[in-house]
Amino acid sequence: MSIKSFVESLKGGGGGAGDVSIHPAIDNGIKPGSDNFQGGTLLCHCSSNPVKVSVGAQTAHNHACGCTKCWKPEGARFSLVAVVSRDAVSVAENGDKTAIVDESAPIQRHACKECGVHMFGRIENTDHPFYGLDFVHTELSPESGWSAPQFAAFVSSIIESGENPDNMDAVRTRLRELGLEPYDCLAPPLMDLIATHTAKKSGALPA
Ligand SMILES: [Zn+2]
Ligand SMILES: [Zn+2]
Repeated sequence: MSIKSFVESLKGGGGGAGDVSIHPAIDNGIKPGSDNFQGGTLLCHCSSNPVKVSVGAQTAHNHACGCTKCWKPEGARFSLVAVVSRDAVSVAENGDKTAIVDESAPIQRHACKECGVHMFGRIENTDHPFYGLDFVHTELSPESGWSAPQFAAFVSSIIESGENPDNMDAVRTRLRELGLEPYDCLAPPLMDLIATHTAKKSGALPA
């Protein structure tokens, strides 16, 4: 894709939904993950002394996310983010270059202070429904075979990053073309998990 057509696609110009860029890693179609994939190494974008994070397991619930908090490459409308057990995630090199983006956020995103790439997001609140899961961007890994994106979350939130609301039909059409059902929260299985967690805490369901 030329720079010009990339810029046009971000503006929503050019007509068909196929021109609407979602994220460079999936704009030309989504590659399926491999069944026996065992994980890999995430690298930040620094050309020297990159932060290396080792992820020793396959990821799950990979999705395109439209929220304003997730890291995404320059120009992308959506991030691509997946979860993996926090036990499988460890900083392998140059951890001293990382800092937490927002200590008060439920998901503490550990980012490279030099290039700004988020290496992993971690939940420290043991009462959080997703406690035990780290959030990672597998596009930072040279390995292929990571679980493929399955849906799109927080789609309407891209407007908060400056998307023209008039483009939303084209964005949702393009997401569906890619096989990513668009949701304005998370996908139903994850929403159900959160609600079940809440119901168990309140006593509405047996713990
Ligand atoms: Zn970096
Ligand atoms: Zn997000």
